Amino acid sequence: MMVRLWGTRGSVAAPGPETIRYGGNTSCVEVRGSDGTLLVLDAGTGIRRLGATVGPDTRRIDILLSHLHMDHIQGLGFFRPLDQPGQEVHIWGPPSTTLDLQARLSRYLSPPLFPVRLREHPCQLTLHDVPLDGFEIGELKISAALVCHPGPTVGYRITNDGASIAYIPDHEPALGGWHLPDDSEWISGFDLAAEVDLLIHDSQYSAAEYWRHVGWGHSAIPQALDFAHRAGVKRLVTFHHDPSHDDATLDTFIEEARKSMDIPFELIPGTEGAYFDL
Ligand SMILES: [Zn+2]
Ligand SMILES: [Zn+2]
Repeated sequence: MMVRLWGTRGSVAAPGPETIRYGGNTSCVEVRGSDGTLLVLDAGTGIRRLGATVGPDTRRIDILLSHLHMDHIQGLGFFRPLDQPGQEVHIWGPPSTTLDLQARLSRYLSPPLFPVRLREHPCQLTLHDVPLDGFEIGELKISAALVCHPGPTVGYRITNDGASIAYIPDHEPALGGWHLPDDSEWISGFDLAAEVDLLIHDSQYSAAEYWRHVGWGHSAIPQALDFAHRAGVKRLVTFHHDPSHDDATLDTFIEEARKSMDIPFELIPGTEGAYFDL
């Protein structure tokens, strides 16, 4: 399985000379199975550059949305394969009790916010509510579960050929306190991440910043480390960086995190363009 980060920023795109290493594009991760299956995790602004690399040999594309906050769907209308006649595209998103996925996405992808309606793209588009009991795309086995974040939000666990990743970009498992619950069963997202080879996880805030943002649905870096530690992951990739954090600030946070505890896994700063072969 191959994993590439196309957008690691949270909340709003933050391009500029001060964010050039970690990147300014919002959430988007490419996952390629060993059979060539292409999954796209979230459709933030990073999806535009990914779209330019998808050739005609990729007959089917599956976009798995964690949720519908703007930073996770803003690039969708600029994903070039949507404009290829006959290109098979599936979009999966968390179920809601109010409006279906088509109606919720169309709130953005329709005038006046966007000139082209979702159904006007010439690809063969199918929308799905994500099943919460596991499903398969190509040879990839996927499970999704609701996680702690405002509005219906899922995280994903994907396994292929004995390798596993978890993607939980917006997540506040410590909601209401600093520490995670003692009983793992009560930790949001725990089963998704348990013993994965690679965890891509919300690391939006510093410890000091978290206290001004309790309930906003994000984690401080020490909480992300704690979550990864409890889940027994092999590697943690920090993700969903706050738009106000420049490269130097993010480097400092990672350095402080490394010094703060004996980390029993590999800690990898989530930088745009990073590539993992699992
Ligand atoms: Zn987000
Ligand atoms: Zn969000």
